[in-house]
Amino acid sequence: MISVTEALDKVIFAISNRVAFEVVGINDAVRRVPKDDIFAKIDLPTEDNSAMDGYAINFNDAHDCNLVMPVSSRITAGESRVTLKKYSAARIFTGGLVPINADTVVPQELCELNGEKITINVVPKLGSNIRKQGQDIEVNKKVVEKGTSMNAGMVGLISSQGISQINVFKRPKVGLLSTGNELVDSSTSLKSGQIYNSNIPMLSSLLIDIGIQVIDFGVIGDNPIDLKNKIKDSVKEVDVLITTGGASVGDEDHMNSILKRDGKVIFSKVSIKPGKPIVFGEIFGCPIFALPGNPVSAFVTFLILVKPALMRLMGHVSPHNCYIKAKSTFSSPATSREQYLRGFARSVGDDLRVDLFPNQSSGALSSVAKSNVLIRQMIGDNIGTEKLVDILFY
Ligand code: AMP
Ligand code: MG
Repeated sequence: MISVTEALDKVIFAISNRVAFEVVGINDAVRRVPKDDIFAKIDLPTEDNSAMDGYAINFNDAHDCNLVMPVSSRITAGESRVTLKKYSAARIFTGGLVPINADTVVPQELCELNGEKITINVVPKLGSNIRKQGQDIEVNKKVVEKGTSMNAGMVGLISSQGISQINVFKRPKVGLLSTGNELVDSSTSLKSGQIYNSNIPMLSSLLIDIGIQVIDFGVIGDNPIDLKNKIKDSVKEVDVLITTGGASVGDEDHMNSILKRDGKVIFSKVSIKPGKPIVFGEIFGCPIFALPGNPVSAFVTFLILVKPALMRLMGHVSPHNCYIKAKSTFSSPATSREQYLRGFARSVGDDLRVDLFPNQSSGALSSVAKSNVLIRQMIGDNIGTEKLVDILFY
């Protein structure tokens, strides 16, 4: 049995050489990860312009005129740059180019217009209300680092550079397949012994959450030949296959032996609770995660071991989960496997506090539904009340 850290290293390593790239339009670039650094092609702002509606002046000239000056021109955004006439002011609007020889913009609220002349009632500081060329971004400076997920602000920034297409990491197509004779889909009424499939909709939601295209391969019974044939067909259509159920060592659990015979097992047990019988390997040229069937185990192993691998595949240089600290309102004795408890975190005054969901059974799906965090308990650690613990929001 290997540790969570070793398992993570193995999945990320195995998947790293499978990255692929594609070009996307800027409108589809949010949350995508650029293959290369992106550099500014132009200064932003491209030229000095006004941050306010008001009057562009030359600070010294205005004082020489005792703050009363004729208005010699009118400048709106989009017009090319003009020169300010000596001892005059230019009416200017936000985004208008500050004229040559002007050095300050006086907001209109601080001026009074009397016929053709303005009187400046309050003079702002020299240089006020001008957005200087390059103050936001200078030409040739890096605007987006390769390997970072692009947020909406980055998309805007890249657009401001006139860039409309970006080379990004391809998102993998991920297949989901559930195994188990007991599983039926929601269109059927349940007979004794049967259950509805909750793993596929749940995992599909987790995948959609991170922008992955999902192919639902449905349910297959616990028959090793059918199962192998189904896997063989399914992997042709996807970059990664995730199965649930049949990953353990019971007589009706076939994933491990199919992988051993027709593929490669990279690991078949991880020191994690819940979710110990997770199998990772390759089959027919495709990486495969065989998750345990218990819905909570499938949920936890997906978030802890599968998601970081998929994030790496999508180009994230830091694909690991981000934990933050919260104060526990419960205690939990030390365990021999790395444990992920379900809990609810909420802010109380200046503190972030986390309550434990009362039922921590790996079959209790309500523990996932009614919680908002996984609480990480490292091997051998006791969690006491009022202690800081690592939590992962989902
Ligand atoms: P297994 O990993 O196949 O031994 O299954 C462990 C438990 O999870 C059993 O109680 C199964 O009925 C249940 N289970 C397996 N697959 C699913 C699924 N897709 N949806 C809901 N429960 C499942
Ligand atoms: Mg089963």
